[in-house]
Amino acid sequence: MTLRIGQGWDVHRLVPGRKLMLGGLEIPSELGEEAFSDGDVLIHALIDALLGALSLGDIGSHFPPGNSRWKDASSSDLLQITLELVEKEGFSIVNVDSTVILETPKLKEWKEKIRQNLSVLLKISSKQLSIKAKTAEKLGPMGEGKGIEAQAVVLLQSKG
Ligand code: MG
Repeated sequence: MTLRIGQGWDVHRLVPGRKLMLGGLEIPSELGEEAFSDGDVLIHALIDALLGALSLGDIGSHFPPGNSRWKDASSSDLLQITLELVEKEGFSIVNVDSTVILETPKLKEWKEKIRQNLSVLLKISSKQLSIKAKTAEKLGPMGEGKGIEAQAVVLLQSKG
């Protein structure tokens, strides 16, 4: 059995008139992610972690911004395409750990819902998926509420 670890990070500006998408769910918020796709920062970090684990490049090389095919794309769909690549390489997910950094709104009541939704998208049990949420203690652009950041680490194992 071969193990592979991958890491991903993403950040988006928060602006009025956009949805705040996180883990495939829309979170009620006055501001949302500015992006070419739906801007789901957590899924983007996760996609980069999955691609990174298998040295398959990054999200920008697979889903280039500017390509009309990905304009306003659902990040859940991009994740499905990425999972197909992982399966094609003969790997499956052991576990995922992630952190979302956001000043407001607080994600306390959403974390479990996001975890359930994302575990279904990833075809794993929710026990294999950890989602942590924290503020930036008002420090830097995230702390000033100008953006949202996500970090993810994923461990894969070969099926054979
Ligand atoms: Mg992104």
